[in-house]
Amino acid sequence: MDSGHRLDFADAALRRIRQDRLYRRLQRGAVNGPHITIDGQRLVNLCSNDYLGIPATPVRTGQCQSSSRLVSGNDSAHDDLEAALAGHKSQQAGLVFPTGYMANTGVIQAVAQKGDLIMSDELNHSSIIDACRLSGARVVVYGHNDMGGLERGLGRNAENRFIVTEGIFSMDGDYSDMPHITDIAARTGAIMIVDDAHGDFVAGRDGRGVPHMFGVADKTDIYISSLSKALGSFGGYVASDERIIQLCVNRSRPFIYTSAMPAFIAEHALERFLSDREARRQTLLGNTKMMADGLRSIGYDIQSQTHIIPVVVGREEDAVEMGKFLFKKGVFVQPIRYPTVPKGRARLRISVTAWLTGADINESLEAFEGAYGRFF
Ligand code: PMP
Repeated sequence: MDSGHRLDFADAALRRIRQDRLYRRLQRGAVNGPHITIDGQRLVNLCSNDYLGIPATPVRTGQCQSSSRLVSGNDSAHDDLEAALAGHKSQQAGLVFPTGYMANTGVIQAVAQKGDLIMSDELNHSSIIDACRLSGARVVVYGHNDMGGLERGLGRNAENRFIVTEGIFSMDGDYSDMPHITDIAARTGAIMIVDDAHGDFVAGRDGRGVPHMFGVADKTDIYISSLSKALGSFGGYVASDERIIQLCVNRSRPFIYTSAMPAFIAEHALERFLSDREARRQTLLGNTKMMADGLRSIGYDIQSQTHIIPVVVGREEDAVEMGKFLFKKGVFVQPIRYPTVPKGRARLRISVTAWLTGADINESLEAFEGAYGRFF
């Protein structure tokens, strides 16, 4: 169908994106263990969120339910997975969403309403930002881990007050200040929501997540996470009090008005949850130390204490050039630019996984050593 000039507005919009040097393009890659093959070149993959590197498990496909969970899409595989995830977080109940993005938009919109207040860390993920907007609540963004700002914001009048933070921040790789945040929540009566997409299955004993690692799980009310990262499966979930789960079932638009996660994906996620994750977690911790120590000894200023290690370059074009340089050296690290991170804070975001061998990490460090003289 000829749309004539009606779609010309897209040219202007794309031109502006190109002028800002922020144009994005899909790249075709085949992921295999610690490697990714792009344009025939096999590279060490430092861009994977498959943190634990649990070996591929076969997916026994079956008929998709092709219906919402509330119509004919609810399968016993969902119930089994949700029970396991609730136990993982020591919560009464769990609820699975098709993606982590939908878990954030769905849960926050279901619990917070007009007349409520949400305090949201300025570095929270886009899905949390969208969720806050959808909720209709008043949203106050506080400075990153700024406890003074958080406390001041909570002084406002509201029906219910919520605090939402990530456990490990996805682009900076730092922990949220959970001990102080939960303390403030407890003192002010605010409801504590944590999106632990990057800390879940990794941080704390048995990978129970960042609030458990800091010993503040009993002060955390609502856990949201992704099954697509450390577990290497797919989907998102919430674990909380039974009443919160019922509220989501009844009010969460991204839960109600979409098709159920296919039952075979729920089975896949449960199988990986039940696998021996601890050995992989220890490998991940060792790999993280090796990578961070190695980068520091080259001269990089590495602040991260987690498996997400940003190398902040600054200018967007420099980050892109450094990414290309590393690519030529056999290492794949995507530059992360505005609007994902603030302007002038472009970076190469390394994510370490348990897939990587010592040789992979050494090869990566050699490439980063070559880049250091050119870009720093
Ligand atoms: N929360 C955070 C902090 C994330 O980084 C992401 C994904 N990048 C999500 C939620 C969304 O998870 P999913 O990929 O499962 O949709």
